[in-house]
Amino acid sequence: MELTVLSFEDHGLVRIIRLGVISTLPRHFPGHYALLQFGDHPARPYSIANSPNDTYLEFHIKNGGHAGGSTVATTSLGIGDKVIFHGFGGHYTSIPDCVRPLILVAGGTGLAPMLSIAAASFESNLSRSVFLFYGGRHLADLYYDTRLKEMMVMHNHFSYIPCLSDEWVDDIAHGVVGDIALQHPDLMKARVYVAGPVDMVRRTVTQALAKGVLPDVIHSDLADLADLVDLVDLGNLIAITKK
Ligand SMILES: Cc1cc2nc3c(=O)[nH]c(=O)nc-3n(C[C@H](O)[C@H](O)[C@H](O)COP(=O)(O)OP(=O)(O)OC[C@H]3O[C@@H](n4cnc5c(N)ncnc54)[C@H](O)[C@@H]3O)c2cc1C
Repeated sequence: MELTVLSFEDHGLVRIIRLGVISTLPRHFPGHYALLQFGDHPARPYSIANSPNDTYLEFHIKNGGHAGGSTVATTSLGIGDKVIFHGFGGHYTSIPDCVRPLILVAGGTGLAPMLSIAAASFESNLSRSVFLFYGGRHLADLYYDTRLKEMMVMHNHFSYIPCLSDEWVDDIAHGVVGDIALQHPDLMKARVYVAGPVDMVRRTVTQALAKGVLPDVIHSDLADLADLVDLVDLGNLIAITKK
């Protein structure tokens, strides 16, 4: 199916793109990614940043500096251009009737699915607490900082906690985002979602399991969560967190 570029805005290396369709948009669940093909490049997964609606899908695509579809998407793509959509996928979605507070842990464009999960939570349960920990190395990596602060004003039960690992900035937590998020006092009663670079996701999920968070309430796109659970059970935690 062909999608059309409706709009885009650049935030540093990240381009926020809205894609629409003339007929009805297929329905996704918050947390899903879409397989998108830019030009002749192979299709790649990109997380959907917005709640399901009838008019557009929003994506946050980073120009990684390589000659792939993401570079096309963040440089030469224009309004009205066509993008081929190959379907939705993903290992996790929001759970509307769950009463647990949410701890969302994101790095890089891993922010996109967390925005979708947060929006779904605002729609399904206004009093559910949502804590979004967003990490980067440097201040410039926090490309959505202003919008996230606006979201805190709009939603009483939403907290945004920016974290920087390689730079000290006043009023921003210093350290690795997952390590900071997992110190939250509500951790054991929360549902935890993690998205971002694979190493960051693996480290955060492994440490959450080691702290005793149940696998059923940890969500990520790691395909091998069951293997991690076994390794943590066997006491091999140090070996895998060093990977
Ligand atoms: C579940 C999931 C969700 C994702 N969501 C998003 C998202 O929301 N936003 C987003 O921007 N990306 C997202 N990604 C990553 C995205 O799918 C692509 O893999 C990434 O953007 C690069 O794709 P590409 O087509 O531009 O490059 P590719 O075609 O994969 O690579 C182009 C060239 O660059 C090289 N290359 C690629 N990466 C590197 C690297 N890190 N170091 C050195 N060389 C490299 C390749 O070997 C190749 O030669 C997601 C990935 C997954 C698995």
